[in-house]
Amino acid sequence: MHIRVNNLHVRPLNVEISEPVESFPALVAMAEQGAVIFTGEVTGSLTAGMAGDLVRLEGRVTVTVVMSCGRCLCELRRSLDVPFHLCYHQVDVPLGASDDAEEIELTLRDMELTPFTGDEIDPKPEIAQELIMALPQAVLCQEECAGLCPVCGGNLNTQACECAKPVFHEGLARLKDLKIG
Ligand SMILES: [Zn+2]
Ligand SMILES: [Zn+2]
Repeated sequence: MHIRVNNLHVRPLNVEISEPVESFPALVAMAEQGAVIFTGEVTGSLTAGMAGDLVRLEGRVTVTVVMSCGRCLCELRRSLDVPFHLCYHQVDVPLGASDDAEEIELTLRDMELTPFTGDEIDPKPEIAQELIMALPQAVLCQEECAGLCPVCGGNLNTQACECAKPVFHEGLARLKDLKIG
C-alpha cells in the first residue's frame, strides 16, 4: 500500500485497503509476544488529500483479533473497527541521515506529524499503531464469566468442581480487619 503524493494537490485519492496482517511488522510482533493475534486481512479504505503542505489520510480499517478471556483464558475472536486520521509532512533530508534529520523528525512527531521523504507514503506502520492502540485492555467471554477454579484450574463455566474455597491468606485477613476497625 503506497500512496503517491504527486497529484494530491490536484485531487484527493481514494485507496482501498486489503493487506494481510503479515505485511504489518508491528502486528506480527504482537502475535509473537503471545498476547493478541491479529489474523486474516486488514481491510478498509482511506482518502488521501492535501491540507496546506500536509498530507492527510482519513479512513477506517477492520481486522480480526484473537484474544484470551481475562478470567477463563478461553479463546475469543473480536473484530476491531478503527477509524484513523493521519498527518504526514514531507521532508527533503533523508530520515536518520544526520542529527539535523533526527531533530526535524522529533519535532514533527511532537506535533503528531509523520515525516516522509520522496513522493510516496506507506501508511502501514501508522495504521498498525492505530490498531494496537484500539485493542481493548481486557475482554471477557461473557459478563458473568466464572473464571477458573484457583485450586484445580478447571473452567467453572463448563464444569462444577468439588474443590474447597481457597482460605484467605492470614495477612490479607488482618488487613481486612484493619479496614473495618
Ligand atoms: Zn471467560
Ligand atoms: Zn476446582
